[in-house]
Amino acid sequence: MTKIQDSQMPSCFIEVIKEQISIFKLGASHQDLNKIPEDKDKFLLHMQPDKPVRWFKISKVICVFVDMKGSTQLTIQKEVNDVAKAYQLFTNTAIKLFNAFNAPYIDIKGDGVFALFNSDQPHRALASAVTFKTFCHLEFASRFRDTGTDCHIGIDQHDVLVRALGLRGDANNNEVWAGKPVNMASKLAGLAVDNQILASERFFKNFKDDLALKSCGCKQGSPTPEKVDLWKPVDVSNKDFLDFNTAYKLLPNWCSKHGKDTCNALLKLDENN
Ligand SMILES: [Zn+2]
Repeated sequence: MTKIQDSQMPSCFIEVIKEQISIFKLGASHQDLNKIPEDKDKFLLHMQPDKPVRWFKISKVICVFVDMKGSTQLTIQKEVNDVAKAYQLFTNTAIKLFNAFNAPYIDIKGDGVFALFNSDQPHRALASAVTFKTFCHLEFASRFRDTGTDCHIGIDQHDVLVRALGLRGDANNNEVWAGKPVNMASKLAGLAVDNQILASERFFKNFKDDLALKSCGCKQGSPTPEKVDLWKPVDVSNKDFLDFNTAYKLLPNWCSKHGKDTCNALLKLDENN
């Protein structure tokens, strides 16, 4: 294996690399957790960035990833203050809404925001995604329609490894969530078209109740209510970067008549878990 030579870069940088390699060689271990820890400070105390020891493995974590679509066009077409306003409206609303849904962990990644939910909160995760989607459709995209800016949303569920990595000290102590759900949810969001939720099959399989599977029956312009499937399967077997063959897309936003009740009822479904 080729090693970095002493003449290859200043010694202060070589020292950094050497220290990390020595930690790498010590190996890693993990502890299983059932849930994303609620007391983040306590959680972080256990995670010392420069120690090789512990990762935490949390099973079947759900990741809802909301991504701003068309941000490149936005930055090209709009004045800098308008771009700033758009980012603020999109990102802050996502963070505050996920927080209002009590997501145990929320973070910003690129042009997007992701929220993590525990394995027993699938309906809460879905309700948060539909709420943000409805906001995007009615309040966000409509304000930037000329640039084609919109949101796309991906949801996945899988085990994650987490620990703090980074510099010592509060401000630089970053948690790293390593594992499929954040990556896959982000990739699903990339595949989703405007104002669409694209979910992996393993997340979709949580849903047995019609509340999550069927529409309320309202159809604009139609006198006869008809409950239809909310989700449609999408073949993603040709997408090598996904490790499942079927995704499910959801188009409707909260119904202007029944959305509030549906959202509350969905949240109740998780309480039975
Ligand atoms: Zn309705």
